[in-house]
Amino acid sequence: MSDCVFCKIIAGQIPSEKVYEDEEFIVIKDIRPVAPTHLLAIYKKHVPTINDLELEDSKKMWRLFEVIKTVTKQRNIESYRIVQNNGKDSGQEVPHIHFHIIAGRRLGALG
Ligand code: AMP
Ligand code: ZN
Repeated sequence: MSDCVFCKIIAGQIPSEKVYEDEEFIVIKDIRPVAPTHLLAIYKKHVPTINDLELEDSKKMWRLFEVIKTVTKQRNIESYRIVQNNGKDSGQEVPHIHFHIIAGRRLGALG
């Protein structure tokens, strides 16, 4: 996707603060952090939302949990929140599937 900001980051066409990368995922620092730690685990393939995932993608995505464990362990983070938005009403700004990893302060209740 030529005009997708996350595809451009994955392709190295725009800069990012990368903290982890493997075959399926890249993890970067969010440019507008809402907490002392705010990372984005981005699936490398351009898939807009969970609803657009094909079975092959879902099969690869179990690795996400290992990615989250790795980057949080590296940072000695024991408590964190994962946020994943799908569609406009959820607040999704970038239609390329990604998971927010948020930590470092006491977070409020959802809602
Ligand atoms: P969402 O609202 O779930 O789509 O989240 C998109 C996130 O991407 C927001 O938290 C933005 O701050 C973040 N973001 C947008 N552009 C960049 C960028 N160039 N580098 C890092 N994070 C970005
Ligand atoms: Zn994309």
